[in-house]
Amino acid sequence: MKVTDHLLQAKGKTLFSFEVLPPKKGENIQSLFTNIEPLLEFKPPFIDVTYHREEYVYRQHPNGLLEKKTVRRRPGTVGICAAIKNRFDVDTVPHLICGGFSKEETENALIDLHFLGIDNVLALRGDPIKSEGRFLPDPDGHSYACDLIGQVADLNKGSYLDEEQDDTWATNFCIGAAGYPEKHFESPNYAADLRYLKHKVDRGADYIVTQMFFDNEQFFSFEKRCREAGINVPIIPGLKPLTAKGQLTMLPRAFYLNIPEELADAVHQAPSNEVARRIGIEWCINQSKELMAHGVPVLHYYSMGKSDSIRQVASALF
Ligand code: FAD
Repeated sequence: MKVTDHLLQAKGKTLFSFEVLPPKKGENIQSLFTNIEPLLEFKPPFIDVTYHREEYVYRQHPNGLLEKKTVRRRPGTVGICAAIKNRFDVDTVPHLICGGFSKEETENALIDLHFLGIDNVLALRGDPIKSEGRFLPDPDGHSYACDLIGQVADLNKGSYLDEEQDDTWATNFCIGAAGYPEKHFESPNYAADLRYLKHKVDRGADYIVTQMFFDNEQFFSFEKRCREAGINVPIIPGLKPLTAKGQLTMLPRAFYLNIPEELADAVHQAPSNEVARRIGIEWCINQSKELMAHGVPVLHYYSMGKSDSIRQVASALF
């Protein structure tokens, strides 16, 4: 079932959902299932599965020459979505990215998803490969998420890449797009970022999920600006409880976000990681309560591979 249909069915009640990462190559899928199981009592109508593109590593040979190798550390997004759906009877949202995909490969991935009965995709550009510094699309791929969204929307109208193909089956994907309450790091300003977000919705995005944030005022003002710009699709806030002191620097570095002074000071001064974790979870519960009272359709949590802190937050709310 589509994410948007779940929202309609909820009739204004805030739902719980979360995002998981595919296990690292070589690990068993059981570890992922074990992570998901404790969260099922909060009845997530859908679970997101991230997509991780390839990285380049350089291996030195005995003769001193360096060999460039392509490594995909967390493969399996499509298979994991099908496995979760099959095992837990919960809808899944595979993340689909532009990076590393030609349009043809994207179309084939969408056909696989359609055959597997997966009704949702979160369409993203993807981050640059670490060693490349800036985002470089596949020579025959998309440069921006809006174009990927356009391709999915075309397939939903039965329009495949091969124009000579007729009598085609139209897919019926619900399409999600990413939004940034604190602005995407490459955008010159909020106005430009919002214009591109509106463009994603105009091309076919049915809902928006936000990057994580720790200050609800950022979300409220983002939502207001979206509505003023004519973006009328549901906006789902993304949240993460801070669980270790090191995240005070890691999260801003990785996700270009701000951590409010009050939270940052409290975590910084905490005598141990255990205390820091309690502070982070408490903060996330308070954020979630306020967002729920505000009437957000879903509280969507970033698990980053670990579900125990999300479980603690969800127990206080659902
Ligand atoms: P876009 O919407 O394409 O935007 C990228 C930048 O280009 C922005 O600065 C935007 O303002 C600008 N822009 C957009 N359209 C245009 C245009 N037409 N012309 C000029 N400029 C334009 N990454 C992964 O690799 N895997 C994941 O699974 C994943 N999941 C995510 C889930 C969520 C909820 C979020 C918020 C992010 C996720 N990301 C993931 C990270 C995301 O891929 C990066 O933030 C990426 O840098 C931007 O993706 P986007 O879809 O927002 O890109």
